[in-house]
Amino acid sequence: MTDVLDDARDHRHATAVRLTEVTKTYRAGTVEVAALRGISGDIPLRSFSMIVGPSGSGKTTLLNLVGCIDVPSTGTVEVCGQRIGELKDNALADFRARHVGFVFQNFSLVPVLSAYENVEYPLLLIGVPAAKRRERALAMLEAVGLANQSRQRPNELSGGQKQRVAIARALVKEPSLVLADEPTANLDTETGAAIIDLMHRVQSQFHTTFVFSTHDPHLMSHADETFVIRDGRLVDHKAGAVQ
Ligand code: ADP
Repeated sequence: MTDVLDDARDHRHATAVRLTEVTKTYRAGTVEVAALRGISGDIPLRSFSMIVGPSGSGKTTLLNLVGCIDVPSTGTVEVCGQRIGELKDNALADFRARHVGFVFQNFSLVPVLSAYENVEYPLLLIGVPAAKRRERALAMLEAVGLANQSRQRPNELSGGQKQRVAIARALVKEPSLVLADEPTANLDTETGAAIIDLMHRVQSQFHTTFVFSTHDPHLMSHADETFVIRDGRLVDHKAGAVQ
């Protein structure tokens, strides 16, 4: 009996995100677009998981659901055991602020804030006291190799440095899940490779689950799990990278 319970517990803890028959239909007036048409699958805890597929296949829609930015039309999305469709707007925003970090291809840093202030900001939003904010923001900047650039503003940083700040900002609240939409798209090959190495290092340090949407073959080759979607359907899901 204990074994069965332990198995169930292990299984539950081993899954960061569970998708069950998820559909998403956008409505604009009388026009309906079925962006996701019944997606099921588990994203394992502490994995480097990739969502790949052609433009328009539904990758961003899926990331928005996994990132608690939106809720499914039908089916269920469970993030860290929480069904997100059951949360009202405020509760969804609060859940997202605590559990999910985002890295965008255009970095989305606040231009008038320094690197340090950009990283500290998510902690302000969830009410972390000042001394703790400072300690964690400085530790994260150190972890991404930017301890000496903490006072610089985004326009004084290179593309790779901006992406490092964005990664530090995504990780500073120690979220269960970090989502990255094409995180290497605006970086040259060498900088992109350095950012992938950095994400691997922070993953083993902070035990984060990373979910990427990407076209970048180099990033795709690092996948622990690959979800291939086409026309809103999961057409392949395998452990490791798609060759
Ligand atoms: P991808 O990220 O793979 O390019 P998306 O998830 O952005 O795909 O889009 C999937 C489909 O949903 C596309 O046909 C797109 O035009 C449509 N779509 C995405 N967002 C909206 C929206 N807000 N309103 C209407 N249609 C949308």
